[in-house]
Amino acid sequence: MWYEKIPFYAPSNLSEALALCQELPDSALLAGGTDLLVQLRDPNDKVKALINIAGLPELQTIERLGNTVRLGAGVTFSRFLQQGADFFPPLTEAVRQLASPSIRNKATFGGNIVNASPAADTLPPLYAADAVVILQSIHGKRRVGLADFILGPKRSALQTGEILIQIEWHVPENYIYYYRKIGTRRALALSKVSFCGLYLPEDKTIRLAYGAVGPTVMRALAAEARFSKGDKESLLAEVTEMVQPINDQRSTADYRRFLCRQLTSEFLTRIS
Ligand SMILES: Cc1cc2nc3c(=O)[nH]c(=O)nc-3n(C[C@H](O)[C@H](O)[C@H](O)COP(=O)(O)OP(=O)(O)OC[C@H]3O[C@@H](n4cnc5c(N)ncnc54)[C@H](O)[C@@H]3O)c2cc1C
Repeated sequence: MWYEKIPFYAPSNLSEALALCQELPDSALLAGGTDLLVQLRDPNDKVKALINIAGLPELQTIERLGNTVRLGAGVTFSRFLQQGADFFPPLTEAVRQLASPSIRNKATFGGNIVNASPAADTLPPLYAADAVVILQSIHGKRRVGLADFILGPKRSALQTGEILIQIEWHVPENYIYYYRKIGTRRALALSKVSFCGLYLPEDKTIRLAYGAVGPTVMRALAAEARFSKGDKESLLAEVTEMVQPINDQRSTADYRRFLCRQLTSEFLTRIS
């Protein structure tokens, strides 16, 4: 295979990795490789070098300080389930249903986010949490809201020379959540639709995030704003209007739209 001849760099720390990223603008960062190695089979791929960031110590943080969670981009899903499972249960549920144990042993949060699939399973809980990503280059760090970072399928605001180093979010007080992934089967299936709803009793607001029904994961902000009016029907109508599902090999647009309405309705019933 042509890609077996690509130069492979194995930095031992983040500074070395950042220097390589800057030096080699046509390179790709390799974390778990569960998306990237599939994409490299495309002979039109322009990647000229691989920079291995799997296991870099600076990307392995799993910490909760007060209500703030900080997760290193290089944390694998299996490690998260062992060490961070109680931080934010909607995310834990999403990770438990993602792929298979062997994929979860390699695949990372950073890869799931930067790959920017609308069906990426960690995204609905992280969108509902208003998560922020922290990006670093040799010039310094910047923080970007996750919803602003992901621009479309396989497109993110990551700039040349940058590495996603951490994901951070605030866990609301006493929230109630509802997470569902609807796939063709219960394991090793990409989502037809995924949904995360949060209810924040302190300020009586909700947050609604939907996966696989648009070019990016979507927050139903207009529908969220209708919650205080108590009109369930108009809120559900707003959701079905907002989502932009397509027909593809996994599902039909009509079924996806139906699921968005149904899952939102189930969530509202739980919190009423
Ligand atoms: C059989 C199979 C089943 C799957 N099932 C699911 C599923 O159910 N749900 C789901 O959401 N996904 C699924 N996936 C997709 C994949 O496993 C996930 O998206 C995974 O999280 C990707 O992480 P990774 O570490 O393997 O990323 P990689 O493949 O290493 O990288 C993916 C992309 O992100 C970039 N990147 C990685 N880390 C960083 C970083 N720190 N900073 C900047 N750029 C970075 C890479 O350069 C590359 O462009 C599946 C994949 C396979 C092969």
